[in-house]
Amino acid sequence: MSIVNAKEIMIEAAENKYAIGAFNVTNIIQMEAVVEAAVEKKSPLIIQTSVKPSKFIGRHVFVAVYRTLAEAAPIPICLHLDHCTDIEYCKQCADAGYTNIMIDASKQVYEENIRQTKAIVDYCHSIGDISVEGELGTVSGVEDQIKVAEDEAALANPTQSVEFVERTGVDVFAPAIGTAHGVYKTKNPKVDFERMGQIHKLLNGNGVKVPLVVHGGTGLPEDYIQKLIEMGGAKFNVSTELKHTLIDATWGYLSEHRDEYDPGKLDAFTKDAIRHAVGHWIDMLGSEGKA
Ligand SMILES: [Zn+2]
Repeated sequence: MSIVNAKEIMIEAAENKYAIGAFNVTNIIQMEAVVEAAVEKKSPLIIQTSVKPSKFIGRHVFVAVYRTLAEAAPIPICLHLDHCTDIEYCKQCADAGYTNIMIDASKQVYEENIRQTKAIVDYCHSIGDISVEGELGTVSGVEDQIKVAEDEAALANPTQSVEFVERTGVDVFAPAIGTAHGVYKTKNPKVDFERMGQIHKLLNGNGVKVPLVVHGGTGLPEDYIQKLIEMGGAKFNVSTELKHTLIDATWGYLSEHRDEYDPGKLDAFTKDAIRHAVGHWIDMLGSEGKA
């Protein structure tokens, strides 16, 4: 229990039609909040950090806190490095103790994406039980969401997805299906459910081997989430919502306590807000009680 990679908990999720939240953190308090929420809900958990905070706080600090929290928690927890475009930094985080590494070479041409992704797969598998996530197609920012969603070429091609997975040996796969990073500007973002289902069927028709990731979880309507789980989504990345929650809670608290100089109270307030947001996601993803 406790310290796990992403692959094993995602396979179990995909087989049982629920998904695991990969919650983005930028500091230690948020990490504690995310873990507390998952422990309360008895849910498996993926903690994720982007490259920038990983470098700012330090990968060794994040890993040390992760290990301390995970070893004491009665739930399986993975530490995921999100959207890393730098092969060397992927390796350094794997060395430090991250248990899922996302090499994002999706902006490279197809053959180069394969080459870089395979290099990280080979490395991570050679040093331990670390799973690797690869991406094919473009997960846009919300500014481009509709444009990308309507552009066949920007989305993951199902046949090519199978080839990508086979040639790279990637453990978990993030196909671009029209979801976007940031806050959706429309109530009905354009998401290609059918494409997701087709890729899942081609890859996992005879039992889940390579579970699928949905990027851009923030703001997805709940019925979209359910449908994406139905179509094979086993991990939902939630970043923007937690950043907004942190900033809004901080702003709200400070506005009302202008004369208070007790950082611990501010920390407790923001931690509570994050815990609440994560708890709501766990409810939507159906992972409560699955640890
Ligand atoms: Zn993403």
